[in-house]
Amino acid sequence: MKIPVGGTALKCYPHLQSLLTSAKLTAGKLFHLLGNIFMGIFTKTADYFKDRLGKTRAKLSSSLSSVLSFGRNIDQTLLDELEETLISDDIGVETTDKLMTELRTAYRDRQITSTDDILPFLKEHMKNYWPQCDRQLHLASAGPTVILVAGVNGSGKTTSIAKLAFILGRNNKKVIVAACDTFRAAAVEQLSIWAERIGVQIIKHKSGSDPAAVAFDACEAAVAREADFLILDTAGRLHTQKDLMRQLTKIRDVVSRKISDAPNEVLLVLDATTGQNAIAQAKMFTEAIDVTGIFLAKLDGTARGGIVIAIKDQLDIPVKFVGLGEKPTDIAEFDPNTFVEALFNVEC
Ligand code: GDP
Ligand code: MG
Repeated sequence: MKIPVGGTALKCYPHLQSLLTSAKLTAGKLFHLLGNIFMGIFTKTADYFKDRLGKTRAKLSSSLSSVLSFGRNIDQTLLDELEETLISDDIGVETTDKLMTELRTAYRDRQITSTDDILPFLKEHMKNYWPQCDRQLHLASAGPTVILVAGVNGSGKTTSIAKLAFILGRNNKKVIVAACDTFRAAAVEQLSIWAERIGVQIIKHKSGSDPAAVAFDACEAAVAREADFLILDTAGRLHTQKDLMRQLTKIRDVVSRKISDAPNEVLLVLDATTGQNAIAQAKMFTEAIDVTGIFLAKLDGTARGGIVIAIKDQLDIPVKFVGLGEKPTDIAEFDPNTFVEALFNVEC
């Protein structure tokens, strides 16, 4: 079933306006509510996160347990060691600074008296640092929701698209994927295999053809076939960075000319295992296109999961999804509370 939102919802259900008024709900709030229900399809439990973040948790666990070992008293040395540990575990300088300032104050004010109090304190404060930003998938108010996916070669774009398409398809959404990575011969083939495996339609041309032309055809097909979602794969490596960015903006322009308000999302796929390099890439891409969200792939394959926190500190783009494995089901919407709980579920 298509989820009508905003103005469309009001048109579809004439009684909705009076219902909204009596319930003191605005169309915007309803939109948000529907978005939340919709995003539920990507929700994963804290246990799932805990399991998949095993590498990062193991690293955190071993370093924190040596600092916060049983029977140790809190003193200046312990606090200094803790600060070093958080930085070396990629929690990020900015967040670590803030955490340690507050922890030192709490210790001075005797709100914290034993090492047992430290982990709960860190978790609570870390959760509060996350801005209440919009992590929902932006849906079109009418017609197909168009998601443009960008990122460097090998970051996980095609796999992440397969994951999104699979979960959406499983929830009765009609999904079309577009093979706009025509640069590498294997790329079209890879997306075709995924499309067949997960049962979604694909629009493709021969490799080497103009990616903007694929985007053009894909938009026409998405409208004509009344698709709920159109997800566009793009190339990650061209001869120069300028070429890559020019191609991306060309695809985006074609899409926005064909479908009003599209693309509704520009998702940048970053490889979590590349650490700080991922942040440099994000800065590069945001200069060329308006990235609306990050899909952080391969969070399962790294001991540096703390990079999510550094991304929050250094970029003004929300992490909307995370990739936690190679299977189509290994996708989760990013939720700071679940993430922090899972990450700091360590034994000291
Ligand atoms: P693209 O070049 O950006 O399209 O990247 P691909 O989608 O082809 O992915 C590159 C490699 O990363 C493949 O071997 C994927 O299986 C792997 N990969 C992608 N996402 C994840 C993930 O979340 N976890 C793990 N462990 N591997 C991933
Ligand atoms: Mg690819």
